[in-house]
Amino acid sequence: MKTPFITSKKLAEITKQFPTPFHLYDEKGIREKARAVNQAFAWNKGFKEYFAVKATPNPTILKILQEEGCGVDCASYVELLMSHKVGFEGSDIMFSSNNTPAEEFQYARELGATINLDAYEDIAFLQEVAGIPETISCRYNPGGTFELGTDIMDHPEDAKFGMTKAQLIQAFKELKALGVKKFGIHALLASNTVSNDYYPELARQLFELAVEVVAETKVDLDFINLSGGIGVNYRPEETANDIAVIGEGVRQVYERVLTPAGLGQVKIFAELGRFMLAPHGLLVTKVTHKKQTYRTYVGVDASAVNLLRPAMYGSYHHISNMSNPDGQLEVVDVVGSLCENNDKFAIGRALPESRLGDTLVIHDAGAHGFSMGYQYNAKLRSSEILLREDGQAQMIRRAEKPEDYLVTLYGFNFEK
Ligand SMILES: *Cc1c(COP(=O)(O)O)cnc(C)c1O
Repeated sequence: MKTPFITSKKLAEITKQFPTPFHLYDEKGIREKARAVNQAFAWNKGFKEYFAVKATPNPTILKILQEEGCGVDCASYVELLMSHKVGFEGSDIMFSSNNTPAEEFQYARELGATINLDAYEDIAFLQEVAGIPETISCRYNPGGTFELGTDIMDHPEDAKFGMTKAQLIQAFKELKALGVKKFGIHALLASNTVSNDYYPELARQLFELAVEVVAETKVDLDFINLSGGIGVNYRPEETANDIAVIGEGVRQVYERVLTPAGLGQVKIFAELGRFMLAPHGLLVTKVTHKKQTYRTYVGVDASAVNLLRPAMYGSYHHISNMSNPDGQLEVVDVVGSLCENNDKFAIGRALPESRLGDTLVIHDAGAHGFSMGYQYNAKLRSSEILLREDGQAQMIRRAEKPEDYLVTLYGFNFEK
């Protein structure tokens, strides 16, 4: 079972105040998660979680994470700008971009962000457009497949990110000659892993690489960035990752590989997005229509523009009917209103009977949810609401209005 972080009664008050659909975030859960992550890595003196802004780019959320000691991981100009306005500065900002425009490198340098170079070829580009900083990180891609036991978790060889080992060693040598004083190594080799073994195995690969690279290049290795990839249990039968177990797993590899090699000062960084926020956000929507043809359809007022993952990846998101939790089960497709047949939040799902006006919550929508939203069919982006620790609901982003959609268009006067 998946239990929403809010009661039906409390949610009914909120839906009276704010029209659906909206994303609802849980401040308490977010803070507890950040504390658990920091606690799990407290054994490492320099540990820092740089929240991946792309997962949930809202300043109020970023501020909460900042208060819990997190930094931010950015990959675009506006992510940098938003983070700067929230008050992140210098080494609190990781800039892990790829195929990076010159202005973004320039802006990242201006803010003193730590640049994580995606490509060997970026050295010359960065030097030309923004200059080489004193601290720099390089992103590694080992190629091949990433395996845990007999399970293939992902295919780094097909990923556009990172550089080969030979390139990374060459990059460190050249960057050192160009005046870089402190170095970092970064890799993200599998996405949404529901396993406590991903980080420890990634750590083993990166720590062994680090020992080899430092021996060959004699650089001052300041940090190793394990990046994102720790996933969430979207399906109710899956077991949630245990960050305490993960942190301990990484510690053991650290003691076994890095400490004996004289690298016991190296800081561990993370850039978790999904793990930090996904379970602490719900997409709240109401049943607006029912339709019976060859299948039974439950029409809701949210659509794929509010949560793209099911349409794009066929992802499972659990759904609870908050108005009729004990209703008779019926097998339905839960659909949005786009003129696009993949606009379905669930296909052939047994749910308690959905009645017109019922409130449904779609679970684990707090990361890569709102942020992957779009405006197909001239649908407008919905609002984001934060459930504060004191129980108050606060709007932290209003829904778009028609004029927001029209404002960038030339050649017509919409005022008339
Ligand atoms: C997307 C991304 C992350 C966050 O990944 P999650 O799976 O959401 O934790 C971290 N770092 C980089 C460079 C990314 O592209």
